[in-house]
Amino acid sequence: MLEQKILGIKTEALERIRSVKDDAGLFEFEKKYLGRKSELTGILKGLKDLSQEDRKKIGELANAVKMEISEALEGKKRELKNAGFDFESERIDVTIPSKANGYGHPHILSIVQREIEDIFTAMGFEIADGPEIEQEFYNFDALNVAKDHPARDMQDTFWLKPEIQNPKSKIQNKSENILLRTHTSPVQVRYMEKHKPPFKIIVPGRAFRNEATDATHEHTLHQFEALVVGDGVNVGNFKYIAETFFTKFFGKKLEIRLRPSYFPFVEPGFEFDISCTVCGGRGCPSCKHTGWLEVGGAGMVNQNVFVSAGYKRNAYQGFAWGFGLERLAMMKYKIDDIRLIESGDLRFIRQF
Ligand SMILES: [Zn+2]
Repeated sequence: MLEQKILGIKTEALERIRSVKDDAGLFEFEKKYLGRKSELTGILKGLKDLSQEDRKKIGELANAVKMEISEALEGKKRELKNAGFDFESERIDVTIPSKANGYGHPHILSIVQREIEDIFTAMGFEIADGPEIEQEFYNFDALNVAKDHPARDMQDTFWLKPEIQNPKSKIQNKSENILLRTHTSPVQVRYMEKHKPPFKIIVPGRAFRNEATDATHEHTLHQFEALVVGDGVNVGNFKYIAETFFTKFFGKKLEIRLRPSYFPFVEPGFEFDISCTVCGGRGCPSCKHTGWLEVGGAGMVNQNVFVSAGYKRNAYQGFAWGFGLERLAMMKYKIDDIRLIESGDLRFIRQF
């Protein structure tokens, strides 16, 4: 009798669940067949009044039916949930290309430095370097810069306090002044102390100037030093190498022009210009209508410098030149403000 009733509830519930169409219907169904006041719950509560034999039989049946109805209810819940999901609008198109990864790339100064190094190493030059914190001896004295030369002035050089000196440093005389090198030329002397001619080196590196910054001046600059020393090295060799370098660097035939000038470490010394990379020498606003662009200083190595490095006077001849990497980068890539180069501004950096 009770068994019939339970099976009847099951048949009715499984029939009813099929017509449930929304959350309200689910709620009603659950209340009617599984709720505290449902018939099935009533039967389960009444089990204690049955004989032990019936209690076991009816209990098992009632629980099995309860389980079956619960599963039917859960199945319906899933069905309604999926029905409300718009597969078409949620479709994932696996053929859409993915977002591009952001790759880093070398900074413009690194790009220019590598271009320069490639050209010079192809001509047989070696790459040398030296310390950025330098002794006054290498930065000035050994390069024949007079003791009272204005370049040593506080306004041009970052002098370091003696206590910053590293106790492990090789500087013998602790009272020696140290500074941030103002050019890459000290490496000339350091290299010559350890090497005998003939040799050809380039020295790319940072140098520092204690000066106000503007569109063409920075306190930190990158220089490029070239030094060629041998038996009969002369100005003609310099002119040929300079012309070859600038023609390769700018990708067009350029000419070199030398103008007499004075630098303590060379004799004779000159400033050198290249024919305008924009107009080719006819005259334009970039070259202020002169047809020439100023690129750097150069000259035949002063014999005093050779002597400082430990060579015998007049034993060798050589030429040296130095120019700013920033200046070359600005000329090649048409940059009008040097301060942009180390500004860290990504809008600028990403252009190269
Ligand atoms: Zn021009």
